[in-house]
Amino acid sequence: MIRRMKMMKMLDLLAGNMRTDDPFKLRQTILANVFIFLSLAVLFIFFFLNYFVFHDIWTARLDVVSAMLSLYALYKVRIQNNLQDAIVLNDVNLFLFFLAYAYINKNDDFGLIWLVFVPMFMISLNGYRRGLIITAFFYAILFPIAYLNIGVWQNGEWNLHSFVRFSMVSILMTYVAYINEISIYKTNLALKRMREKEREYNALLEQLSYRDELTGVRNRRAIQELFEKNFERARTDKRYRFSLVMVDIDHFKRINDTYGHQQGDRVLKRFCEIMESRIREGDMMGRWGGEEFLMIFPGCDLEDAVRKAEMLRQTLEAEKESLPVPVTASFGVTEYRPGDTRAELLHRVDEALYGAKAAGRNRVEAL
Ligand code: GH3
Ligand code: MG
Ligand code: MG
Repeated sequence: MIRRMKMMKMLDLLAGNMRTDDPFKLRQTILANVFIFLSLAVLFIFFFLNYFVFHDIWTARLDVVSAMLSLYALYKVRIQNNLQDAIVLNDVNLFLFFLAYAYINKNDDFGLIWLVFVPMFMISLNGYRRGLIITAFFYAILFPIAYLNIGVWQNGEWNLHSFVRFSMVSILMTYVAYINEISIYKTNLALKRMREKEREYNALLEQLSYRDELTGVRNRRAIQELFEKNFERARTDKRYRFSLVMVDIDHFKRINDTYGHQQGDRVLKRFCEIMESRIREGDMMGRWGGEEFLMIFPGCDLEDAVRKAEMLRQTLEAEKESLPVPVTASFGVTEYRPGDTRAELLHRVDEALYGAKAAGRNRVEAL
């Protein structure tokens, strides 16, 4: 079982099965994990080959030192989850390793071919800017050594043609890796921007679909959803309670008839402002229809809810003069009772409101 899990982890490492939400970070995480693991594996294999088969003791020593550093970098990224340190460690390791390797190998047996990995690894792991700088530094040291043919290169067959070929391929390879990296970076950036825009649109859409256009309070859909949520919670959690208040402006038809519809709209707007300014955070209000509003008071029993409704009624009365046309409102209050259906609960709050109207308006009635 444990062996299987270890195998899976190894396969994950080779296949780059890592997860994060940020596309930039995801790419870096995959590359750091796989490249460091790859370096470790290859260095390890070549240590054995160089030591036991080719009897190239100096390269074998170099392999083992570099493999240790790779192992440490792998530990950083896999166990400590420290991506940045792992990348820096890997940079230093490969930079020094490839320089020392090139110097020791001097292109014997075609050994410089390994150096194509320098731009590929450096640029994709460090990003196009930092990667290019590191690669440029690397070649700035290596090219003079190769050009001057310090030591005996390629068993004495290293010539100008060899150098031109080697340097041209290195520069082109760097350029290809650089452009490739830029294209990936720009694609990710575009994706990220698109996602941000999408998020903005979604927020706007939500705003549009959950707000009443005239008054700015929640619309019927929104308050109905909140009612559903509270109802479900109360139904499943015996300790949870909530109350409902239905508010209706008194004689609103007269305002329309006397002052016109537009003035009626202004009254509605100001009425909502007053109510919302006095509603406690966590309490909710939405336009149920016309000049009728439903309030939900989570965690409130009937007594608390009546007290709050009375406070709101008094506030409206006190601020009546700030309305384009003074109005009062009637309040019906009820609380959730175990066993209620949705319809029963809503019907009861309506009945309570009807009671307030029947008893003379501008008052609070509970049921
Ligand atoms: P009551 O005290 O019994 O509630 O009397 P009321 O006149 O307020 O009752 P009713 O329900 O008969 O009238 C409500 C009026 O509200 C009718 C309708 O024209 C008006 N109304 C509904 N929505 C709007 C709106 O968005 N803007 C305006 N200006 N008026 C609206
Ligand atoms: Mg009314
Ligand atoms: Mg009405």
